[in-house]
Amino acid sequence: MRARRLAKLGLKTARDLLFLFPRDYEYPAPAADVDQLREGVPASLMGTITDAELVSRTPGKSLFAAIVENESGAVRIVFFNQPFRAEQLTLDRRVLISGTPKLNGLRMEFSHPKVTILDQQEDFPGPRILPIYPLTEGVKQSDLRRLTRLVCDSLDSELVEVMPASLRQTGADALRDQGIDLVGDLPGIEEALRMLHYPSGIDSLSSARTRLVFQELLVMQLALAMRRRRVTTEMRSPPLPSTAMIDARITNRFPFELTEDQRRAIDEIRADMARQFPMNRLLQGDVGSGKTVVAIYAMLLAVANRHQAVLMAPTEVLARQHYDTLTRILAGSRVHVGLLCGSLGAAQRRAVIEGTESGEIELLVGTQALLHAGVKFKCLGLCVIDEQHKFGVSQRDALRSGGIDPHYLVMSATPIPRSIAMTLFGDVELSTLRQLPPGRGKVNTYLAQDGWKLRWWEFVRERLNEGRQAYVVAPKVFASPSDTEDENEDVTSVESVFEELCNGPLSDYRVGLLHGRLGADEKRSVMESFASGRLQVLVTTTVIEVGIDVPNATVMTIQGAQRFGLAQLHQLRGRVARGAHAGHVCVFTDGESQPEENERLKTFAECEDGFALAEADFRLRGPGDLLGRSQSGLPPMRIAELDRDFDILVAAREIAQAMVDEDPGLNADELVELKRQVLRRYGERLELGDVA
Ligand code: ADP
Ligand code: MG
Repeated sequence: MRARRLAKLGLKTARDLLFLFPRDYEYPAPAADVDQLREGVPASLMGTITDAELVSRTPGKSLFAAIVENESGAVRIVFFNQPFRAEQLTLDRRVLISGTPKLNGLRMEFSHPKVTILDQQEDFPGPRILPIYPLTEGVKQSDLRRLTRLVCDSLDSELVEVMPASLRQTGADALRDQGIDLVGDLPGIEEALRMLHYPSGIDSLSSARTRLVFQELLVMQLALAMRRRRVTTEMRSPPLPSTAMIDARITNRFPFELTEDQRRAIDEIRADMARQFPMNRLLQGDVGSGKTVVAIYAMLLAVANRHQAVLMAPTEVLARQHYDTLTRILAGSRVHVGLLCGSLGAAQRRAVIEGTESGEIELLVGTQALLHAGVKFKCLGLCVIDEQHKFGVSQRDALRSGGIDPHYLVMSATPIPRSIAMTLFGDVELSTLRQLPPGRGKVNTYLAQDGWKLRWWEFVRERLNEGRQAYVVAPKVFASPSDTEDENEDVTSVESVFEELCNGPLSDYRVGLLHGRLGADEKRSVMESFASGRLQVLVTTTVIEVGIDVPNATVMTIQGAQRFGLAQLHQLRGRVARGAHAGHVCVFTDGESQPEENERLKTFAECEDGFALAEADFRLRGPGDLLGRSQSGLPPMRIAELDRDFDILVAAREIAQAMVDEDPGLNADELVELKRQVLRRYGERLELGDVA
């Protein structure tokens, strides 16, 4: 019976039990002497029972009382309605009690304390930290504790040690370098497991946990390091070096000075692209931080080396915008830019595909349509992907040709916490733009309060009268048909907002409507009208979330804001931080709720830093949601918690890299077991097969 319940927890063997890691611990109240006890302060005490009496036997009103005594004095313990205590807590028994004492007369009294009966012979070191295991129905904590303790007591040589002593020593040094408190070397596996299940104290528990977390992260980082190594030795890309002259020629095309961050990212990219294996770099930076400029630099570097470059954007609107930017920057040069997206006519499309194949088109911009169009490049050197989380993973294979891998640059405005970047994307290098280009207006964010609507539209009209433009964003395209009474009927739609504004507060202004259900031509013409200033107000869904650049638009109204994620809200806000004028964002919720009551919206209003918001989002929603953990294909961690164990992760990564640099196949005798574990856990997923 118990075996079956245990099996439900995945516990079939003694080994399974050992690797059932406690999810938490119960820390005993500190052991105290009698004269240190304070009323109302939890404490533990060890002593001998010197008096015990069932004071009242009346069923339903029984009272058992006993005196527990040690060198420092005596306390009283009492239990109501637990007459069985009389059989258990007999004279001369040694016990450990913990609870919260109260003064009763002159003596401290524990009512219903937790009692551990101590063996007479046992030299009991003090109250123990107790593991708390994940439970399944019908299996009790006390059962699991007893079983794991049994297994720990009979540990034998079956346990495989994957970390030889030398590694436990270098590991400990690296961990201390990261500021982790650790006495001595990392414990061996046997001691670590014993301490994890049956800790003798906080310090040994902590070093046991550190060892196991380190091991788990080391195994992962070894796999990733081996994979990086494989990329550098086995994959081939065209080296696309840059000289000072090329660099000057490219930067002269930009109408502004690069920011320091842009310069640093560009230098990192230059170093990557000069090598003969693929660059694999993620360029992250807040909305408006100037990622596109960095990407254009990389593309022009490819062209300078007589290679083609392709830029993929998640939407057609964005692809066109990138195309326009490139054309503008390359005005007067001989570089040919092509655009390929779903809405092209067949003839145009064919022309672009042919131009790309012949090599006449050197820079190609497009949407996913690129992947399906069967485009062949004459000589592709670089692939830039804007807003990568909107793409699937198979895109890469579609773009390599003839055994040559292009260099990869991925841009993302959703900052990825470093801990995630180092694991899920372990073989990706990071460049980060933290600075915004100079001359950016500040954005003020307001949470609408009751009765703000009239005042806010008044404010919007004032800005429009000054010549500025405005966005109004809503979560949904159409109003719910009235015959469906689904729970979403209150969700604000752009359709209804548009109507309301045109007939009400903004009736004197030129208002346009943009959403994903419009045809591509219509979308484009609306966007162009807004960009040129013919439309003053754009009512839209999150189609504008990514990348649209209209510096004159400085006011944004977000309706139904509780339906957007933090990252999304921040992206939206970025739309009105493009120009020299201050931006204003006002947040309204739909339904009954008030923006002030919403934690997410409050965080949004208080915090302007996209990185901090991404971290908050990550905490609120978990990494899986942020990036699609399933996409990474990495197994979940068993004991490590990336947030909490970030320092251990850094140490593990460092050691792993050094180990693989020294011994790429991990072939040293003493690493046999470690290598086996790396391959078992990650070999298939990371295609390390041939290393084995
Ligand atoms: P992102 O793609 O990161 O959102 P963009 O590359 O589109 O940002 O840049 C946003 C705006 O800032 C663009 O209008 C761009 O021309 C401008 N910009 C970029 N870098 C600089 C710079 N160093 N100095 C001034 N303006 C810049
Ligand atoms: Mg962009």
